[in-house]
Order: sequence, then C-alpha cells, then structure tokens
Amino acid sequence: MALVTGASSGIGEATSLALAGLGAAVALVARRADRLEALARRIRGAGATALVVVADITHQDEAVAAIERAAEDLGGLDIVVNNAGVMLLGPVVGAPVEEWQRMVEINVLGLLYVAHAALPYLLGAAETGPRRVADLVNISSVAGRETRNGSAAYNGTKHAVGAFSDGLRKEVTERHVRVSLIEPGAVDTELAGHNRPEILAGMAQRFADVERLQAGDIADAVAYIVTRPRHVAINEILVRPTQQV
Ligand code: NDP
Repeated sequence: MALVTGASSGIGEATSLALAGLGAAVALVARRADRLEALARRIRGAGATALVVVADITHQDEAVAAIERAAEDLGGLDIVVNNAGVMLLGPVVGAPVEEWQRMVEINVLGLLYVAHAALPYLLGAAETGPRRVADLVNISSVAGRETRNGSAAYNGTKHAVGAFSDGLRKEVTERHVRVSLIEPGAVDTELAGHNRPEILAGMAQRFADVERLQAGDIADAVAYIVTRPRHVAINEILVRPTQQV
C-alpha cells in the first residue's frame, strides 16, 4: 500500500509504475486529474491497483484528506514517497518573492504535511503489517547537498528536506519506520520548464553536453530502498548523471 505525491509526471510517475510493478497498490497524488487517470489506467492495465487522489498538498487539509482517503481505500499505507516539488532558480537579488513562496509551500510545507499525516499509518504498518517495516522516501536533490550561485532559495528548500529527513529518521527508526533521502542530479522531466525564459537558457547551456538521468533511474533507487530486508535502512542515495560535475 503505497502513496506517491507528484505522480502526474516525471519521477513520481515513474516511481508509481515501479512500485505497482513490485506488486504494491499505489495511490497517485497530484493536481492534474487527467494525467493521474491516464497513469491509473496504465497501472490497472498491467493488472495492479491504482487509486487517483487529486490534491494540492500545499493545503494541509487536502494533504490530510489525500492520506486518509488512500489509507482507507488501500487498507493502510506502508510506503510513502514524498516527491512533489518545484525548482524555480535565479539570483536572490531582484527575485520574484512569489517564486520562493511557491517553493517553500510545496518543497517544504507540503512534504511536512504529508509526512505528518502519513506517520500514524506508517508506524501502524511497521508494528502490525505483513512487512513489519515501513518506508517514507523523501525526494531532495543534489541541491540539498551543495549550493550554487543562482540557486540559493531552491538550495534552502532542499537542504530543509535533508535536515527534516535525518531528524525524523532519528525519531522513528527504532519503531521500524525507515526515512530515506534521495538526491537526484539532473533528470529529464518537466521540472525546469516552470522557470523564467532567461533562467531556462542558462540551464540549457549548463547541461548541453550532459546525458541526463531518466525518471526511471530515480524510480530504481526508490525500488531498491523499499525492497531491503527489515533490518537494512538505506538512509541516503545521491544519483548524478555520469557527466554531471
Ligand atoms: P515534474 O515537474 O515532472 O514533477 C513534479 C510533480 O509535482 C508533478 O507531478 C506535479 O503535479 C507535482 N506537484 C507540484 N505542485 C504540487 C502541489 N501543490 N500539490 C501536489 N502535487 C504537486 O518534476 P520531477 O519529477 O523532476 O520532480 C520531482 C521531484 O524531484 C521534485 O521534488 C524535484 O525537486 C526533485 N528533483 C528533480 C530533479 C530533476 O532534475 N528533474 C533533480 C533533483 C530533484 P501537478 O502539477 O499535477 O500537481
């Protein structure tokens, strides 16, 4: 019984497919209903179970309702992938502050709301579920490990994800809820497309000669984490394209 936020595209979509392929019933959470319905049809077509839950997780009530609906329909939750996020880059000087608000609301607060609402179910699954262990996988970024000139606000949100994940890990790991952090480098998804044109141009130049990761490469990391034996916790995975410096 898994739930993936940001399942309507990119890493979340690939992760949902991977978890369904492993036999999990998957709740698909995002705002774009049409994309989620199409993914659910694919998953069901392959013989697995998918539940569409349309929610904007920057609203705490919607995040809570999404978790509760998924847990009720699927019969609990033992895997939650906190993946939804945005990356709006650019210098701090003169930045449109609205972009920071969007990033903090989804990358930090949305992720916290989902974790908060899901933890009772994860703790319950770890105590009495068939696996006797549960997984909360938080998607950070290389930007959560290092900083770049022109990326400070995004760096701040992803460093927050790393700090939160490690602190929470210490709180719940003895109860067999594993909190894992994945830090992708450049992945070929829709993520960069939300940036202003002048920012996009700089990014395209930086990665012009780099063969980017595919979303499935990160889904592989999630699959590895959640299929470890009960006594093995993968705390952190950093995955860069080979050519990314
Ligand atoms: P995408 O833009 O393809 O996916 C982002 C997902 O987040 C979408 O499904 C979107 O769905 C969802 N989302 C955004 N806002 C909300 C919201 N308010 N409520 C619910 N869902 C929301 O990008 P990626 O797959 O690349 O990104 C996934 C994660 O990976 C992000 O956290 C990103 O920071 C991280 N990452 C990505 C990297 C990359 O190079 N691509 C590198 C490092 C980290 P919808 O619009 O339908 O709501």
